[in-house]
Parts: sequence; C-alpha cells; structure tokens
Amino acid sequence: MSEIDWSNLSFSYMKADYNVRCYYRDGKWGELEIHSSEMISMHMAATCLHYGQEAFEGLKAFEGKDGKVRVFRMEENAQRMINSANGLLMAPVPEELFCNAVQKAIELNKRFVPPYESGASLYIRPLLIGTGAKVGVSPADEYLFIIFVTPVGPYFKAGFKPTNMMITRLHDRAAPLGTGNIKAGGNYGASLVAGEEAHHKGYSAVLYLDSREKKFIDECGPANFFGIKNNTYITPESKSILPSVTNKSLFQLAQDMGLKAERRPIPLEELETFEEAGACGTAAVISPIGKIDDIDTGKSYIFSKDGNPGKNCEMLYKKLRAIQYGDEPDPYGWVTVIEI
Ligand SMILES: *Cc1c(COP(=O)(O)O)cnc(C)c1O
Repeated sequence: MSEIDWSNLSFSYMKADYNVRCYYRDGKWGELEIHSSEMISMHMAATCLHYGQEAFEGLKAFEGKDGKVRVFRMEENAQRMINSANGLLMAPVPEELFCNAVQKAIELNKRFVPPYESGASLYIRPLLIGTGAKVGVSPADEYLFIIFVTPVGPYFKAGFKPTNMMITRLHDRAAPLGTGNIKAGGNYGASLVAGEEAHHKGYSAVLYLDSREKKFIDECGPANFFGIKNNTYITPESKSILPSVTNKSLFQLAQDMGLKAERRPIPLEELETFEEAGACGTAAVISPIGKIDDIDTGKSYIFSKDGNPGKNCEMLYKKLRAIQYGDEPDPYGWVTVIEI
C-alpha cells in the first residue's frame, strides 16, 4: 500500500479495503457479508431512490497511545438507527447486528485506523436503505445495511478555532413534527440550498430557528447547538432536532466539570446573553462559534472577540477527546475496545 499521509487527511472519502453488508429479505436479516467493491447494485425502483427510505449514522474509532482501537458509544448509534428505521418504516437493524458490523468493519480495515500521534481517526458510516422495488408509495420489502469506513483528519487542522454562522428565515431544515429528529438523508437534501448560501456568504453553517414560530434555536445544519452562561451548559429542547450523541456526552461532562446543564427551549433573544456558544457532533466534537449573524434583521451575536474559543468550550473539547483516545478514564463505559 502506498503510504497514507496521516497528518494531512481531510474529512473526505478514501477507499478502504472492505465494507460489510447485510440484506433484509423475506422478513429477516441475513448473514453479514464482506465486500471489497465500493459499488452496490440495486433495482431502479428501489424505495431509497424514490421515496426517501434512507437513514445513516456516523461514529468514530480512535487508536490510543497503547495501540488499542476504541470506538465511541456505538450502542447509542445503533439505537438511533433503530429509531430512524422506525420513523421511515424501514426494517430496523438489531443492536447486536449493528455492533458486530462496526467491529467487523474496523477489524477488516485495521490498517486504515490512523495512528495515535496523528490526531486523526477512522470515520465509520453505517447506511440503511430500502432496496425493494415499489412504484406506489409504500415501504419496501427488502433492505440493505452497509458499513464503510474511511480515515479522516483532525477536524481543526489550523487548531481549535471559532467559526461564524448565520440565521435565515427563508429556509427550514425540518418541519415541526417531521423527520428532523431522525438521521435521514432527506433532511440533508432539504438543507443544501441554505447551506450553500451560508458558505457563499462566508459562514460555516446555518443556525436554524424552530420552523413553526421562528422564535427558538433549533440546531446548526449537521450539528447540535449549545450555549454557555453563568456556569451553565444550555442546549435546545425541540422535537425537530437530531439527538446528538456528542451533545449528550458533553451534557454529562459539563456537569462533571462543575457546570449546571439544562435542556430547554432557547429563545432567539437569549443568544445575546451567552458567554460562549458552539456546535457539536461526531465530525468536529465541538466547533466553537465566533459570531452568529441574523441576516434578516442585521443583528450580530458575538461570542469570541479575540478569535479564540472560550475556556469552557476548550475544556469540554479536550475532556471528550481524552476519553475517546483512551488518555483519560472512561467512567461511563462510553468506549468499546475493539479486539483485533
Ligand atoms: C449526525 C447529526 C448530528 C450530530 O450527532 P452526533 O451523534 O453527535 O454525531 C447533529 N445534527 C444532525 C442533523 C445530524 O445529522
């Protein structure tokens, strides 16, 4: 194999050796299959292509100083994918099958797990799609569950630095009682126009307001939002937010660090009162937010004047990464060591 330049990886696709697949047919899941091809073959009338029967997951594995490979909270991802499957009337992937597939995908692609010193990790992408053919709108009879992996670089190449976000009322990511709380590709399709507009204007993402009243903070495109003030970690409560495993973890770690933690609706005006703000998700852990511009009203909310992240964001970021890489104890059993 040509050498991988571990320290210059970005968050993009690189072919690994194998992917694992499992088919759901005749009402049951089959055996886990190992494939080296990146291609899948399916019926042109598959429901994932026409009627949005598609959900995915994203998690990471990390090599520690001790050479062991650790995967972070995979049972949470398994449960979330079950929830997504139920929300789109797809066959749910049992937790045990999901976890075995994650383990297998890492094992088979061990040489793509970036070394500890690189600060990079192995991104794991489970995918569930309806493959059965339907022309009338109805759920498929057949499903395909795939996991592929790809090594990804440290999210912050230039260091852990705040980025800016924008608020717009011209687009919604998800409807109030729609699919915002499940990890469906359809939500991403719905967010591409607004996301591109944000990138063109120089912002890293859109911070969405609740789509019913535009009064409360929902989430940031592909990541959850949190704010910090008066020694309190505050993250929105909303039916249209995707429950982030990273956010759930930070919510706990914030309390361990002596902060209070609240999950409740956050009115837009409250942004003004936050001392720090961030977006969180598997890819970046935390993206500290420098400022948020409301492009409809012209109002700006500023969280970092000197271009540096706040101290709580930084402490939370370091703490979570330390657990993921096995540098610090794992008091909640979040990490599974993969025996290879
Ligand atoms: C995946 C995702 C997140 C982040 O969730 P993690 O479990 O922390 O990776 C946040 N928002 C949306 C819309 C997502 O799809």
